[in-house]
This record gives sequence, structure tokens and C-alpha cells, in this order.
Amino acid sequence: MSTFEYAPAPESRSIVDIAPSYGLFVNGEFVDGHGHSFKSISPSTEEVLAEIAEADETDVDLAVRAARRAHSRVWGRMPGKERAKYLFRIARIIQERGRELAVLESIDNGKPIKETRDVDVPIAAAHFFYYAGWADKLEYSGYGTESVGVAGQVIPWNFPLLMLSWKIAPALACGNTVVLKPAETTPLTALLFAEICQQADLPPGVVNIITGAGETGRALVSHPDVDKVAFTGSTEVGRSIARSVAGTSKRVTLELGGKAANIVFDDAPVDQAVEGIVNGIFFNQGHVCCAGSRLLVQESVADDVLDRLKRRMSTLRVGDPLDKNTDVGAINSAEQLAKIRELSAIGEDEGAERWAAPCELPEHGFWFPPTLFTGVTQAHRIAREEIFGPVLSVLTFRTPSEAIEKANNTPYGLSAGVWTDKGSRILKMAGALRAGVVWANTFNKFDPTSPFGGYKESGYGREGGRHGLAGYLKGEARR
Ligand code: NAD
Repeated sequence: MSTFEYAPAPESRSIVDIAPSYGLFVNGEFVDGHGHSFKSISPSTEEVLAEIAEADETDVDLAVRAARRAHSRVWGRMPGKERAKYLFRIARIIQERGRELAVLESIDNGKPIKETRDVDVPIAAAHFFYYAGWADKLEYSGYGTESVGVAGQVIPWNFPLLMLSWKIAPALACGNTVVLKPAETTPLTALLFAEICQQADLPPGVVNIITGAGETGRALVSHPDVDKVAFTGSTEVGRSIARSVAGTSKRVTLELGGKAANIVFDDAPVDQAVEGIVNGIFFNQGHVCCAGSRLLVQESVADDVLDRLKRRMSTLRVGDPLDKNTDVGAINSAEQLAKIRELSAIGEDEGAERWAAPCELPEHGFWFPPTLFTGVTQAHRIAREEIFGPVLSVLTFRTPSEAIEKANNTPYGLSAGVWTDKGSRILKMAGALRAGVVWANTFNKFDPTSPFGGYKESGYGREGGRHGLAGYLKGEARR
């Protein structure tokens, strides 16, 4: 195995100013909550970063009321071209404060700085730029021009700032006001975003950020004065939200889990495919809903692909998220690490063969080495369940129809990847795969102009692109 030395190149954390404690952002200001508080911890060091307010039902109610007032008095009445100016301003401030946001996200989430710097923050800004452009052109959207009202939005911890931008940018562009709850393990960039809203002079109450865990999220989505619920997270919680809003007039979009197949045919450029497999499953430690967590490789090239894949995995640099060399950072929480360990142990018990990249893991924090399982069958739990970590399950196939059948044999339907030299095969596969996004000869590419979302247990509704406006406008869809 090849190993090599490199000089650490840590990004300075002096650009971020983390306060010892944070309140809730309601009606344009930071206020004390009525509930308890909890700690946000850096997953790479286990250092306590800050004490965070936990919003209770009273706080949720105050935030929803502030959003309602702002919608009926200001934001819902403001001409689109005026709303656009605020969205453009927010986008520019995200760019200007990009380094600060990137460092803070890496500290709070554990993901490598090269990802927060080059992916999360630029795409978050791009979402605000893109939807700013829609704000005065809604008559061309096909979904009408009238806003829905107050949106209650709940997001997960894997892309905290990015998921916030996916939720808030289209909502605001359409004239809605929002109450957003970030995940309990990653609240800090959402709280910095609240400061950005103040800096942009956004009218009070248009964006409200309430922190807390599942109970706070539950209180928000079941609040009677919320008109639209937008949730990204696990399928299990998504189901409970769908049940809680059933029978109400609330609109709902759910972006849930995935178990994507990354399919490599024998005519694929192998080194490129190996990079795509690595990007598909080890990007963001595999904490990605659309991660290519099932590798389907054509039997005739399986040995070659696996040899090269193991060689490449052995060069992945696992460690300090703030080091600019780092490829794979920390697992987001002790709970998530326990889940990854449990499912991996189950994989071995079921008879799959486990191989982990040789790497030294830091002493403190939550870490898991890049891992792959071979000898996996369709019946194995590691082939069916979302592990949501840096763990790849490898299956083989002989014919394109077998690849399609295996790829679609999942309760999820969020994404898939196809690696082949033949354009005609790409088109055939894209038509046959039941997944919201199919990447060809690439993986994990995101663009604000492109709709994203799933089938089956991966949820419903689309975020991004023109389709992402649908949930936030009252008009009936015109295709
Ligand atoms: P999770 O469902 O546990 O939590 C997501 C959010 O929901 C958190 O903010 C949490 O506090 C909140 N929550 C928990 N219980 C709730 C309840 N009863 N009512 C309302 N809110 C509640 O998910 P997670 O572990 O934070 O995130 C990982 C999951 O998110 C994975 O399954 C992943 O696939 C999914 N995800 C999907 C997408 C997508 O676009 N489809 C994107 C990112 C993540």
C-alpha cells in the first residue's frame, strides 16, 4: 500500500468568533429561550463549543407569530423586485463571509475545510443568487405568484448551511416568511446566518431561527399557524411528520434518505470511475442522503476496480477537518458513530468481507476509517439500509438488466450513478433507474438550477430549480 508524508496545513480558526452561549433568533433579534439549553460539540475534538437555547412550545409560538406578522405586514406585500435585493445582498454577504462560514461549519460539523470552502459555502451563496433572480419573475414559474405564508423548516446536520439555503432562499423569493430549526448537533452556521440577516437589514420576522432537538421540530411542524412544512432528514422522522400534518391544509415537502447505486460497466474509464466511487461514498464522510453507498460493478472488471479502489482509499487523508489536506473528516456525533459501527458489525455477521483503509485515527473525537464490504448480497442489511457513514457495500452484476434490477431493488429512490463509455447506455439506464437524480460519469454534483428529490421512501417534492418554487406558491402546477 502506498503511504506518503505531507506537511499539515491547518486553516486558522481565529476568523470565527464563537460566543459562549446563543439564544434564539426571533423577530430580528437574539432572545433568551423559555426552555433548557444544550451543548454544541466539535466532533473532531469533543470540545464544547457553545451552550445553545432549546426552544420550547412558547418559543416556537413566538417565532411563528413573528413570521406571520412579517408575512402579512411586510414581506408578503413587498414587490418581488424589492425582495430580490435582499436575497442578492444575503448571497453577497455569504460570499464575503465565506471563510468564516467554512471554518465554523468544519468545526461544528466535522467535515473537511476543503469541502465547506469549495462546496457547502459557494453552493449556499449560489442558491440565494439563483432564487433572487426568480423573485420578480414568478409569473413565469408556472405556479402562480401568491406566497403560501409561513414556512416551518427542519433540517439535518450533514449540510447545515447548504440545507438552510435550499430551504430559505426559495421560500423568501416567493414572499413567504420562515421559521427554521437546524439540527441539534450543528446549530452554529444557522446562528451566524441569523447575524447575516441582520447585516442585510432583512425586515424583522422574515427569517426566524429556533434551535433545539426533535421536540422543538415536532412543535414547529405541528404548529397550527404554519402553512408549509419543509423537512429534510431521516425517513423515520419524515413518516411521523407526514402523519402529523395529514388532514390539515398544510403543504409538505419531504427530502429523506437514500441508498444509491453507483453502477460501473466494463467499458468505463476505470481510474475516473474509481474517483467517482470515492467521491460518491467518502465525500462528507458518507453523511450524504444521495451517497453512492452501493457499488454495482460489472463482474468482468470487478477485481481490477476493487484493486484500484483499495489503492486509492489507502491514500485518503483522514483527520483534522481544518487541515486543508484532509479528505475525510470526523463523524458528526457519537450517536452516528455508534450506528455506523453497529451496521458494519452486522455486515460482518451476515458474512460480508470487511476491508478498511489503513489509517491512523485521532485519539479524541468521533472517527471511522473509509471501509468497504465485498461479498454483499441483496438480502444483507448493509445493502438495504442507509449506513450514513464512510462505508461502501460492493455487489456485482453481469448484464445491464441485472444492474437495473439490483439498483432498483431498494425502498429508496433518490439518486444513482452510471459509469460507461456509451452514451446510448447512459440514456437507457437513466430511463430505467427509479431515482430522482441520475449522474453519468460523475457523482454528487449539485446546482441550484437543477431540481433534486426522490421517489418512494426518499420523500416527495423537489428542491432547486423552477420546481423548487412549487411548494412555496399557491398556484396549481402548470407543466
Ligand atoms: P433526523 O430525521 O434524525 O433529524 C433531522 C431533523 O429533524 C433534525 O433537525 C431533528 O432535530 C429533527 N427532528 C427529529 N425528530 C423530529 C420530529 N419528530 N419532528 C420534527 N423534527 C424532528 O435526521 P438526521 O439524522 O439529522 O439526518 C440524516 C438523515 O437526513 C439521513 O437519513 C439522510 O439521508 C437525510 N437527508 C436527506 C436529504 C435529502 O435531500 N433527501 C439531505 C440530507 C439528509
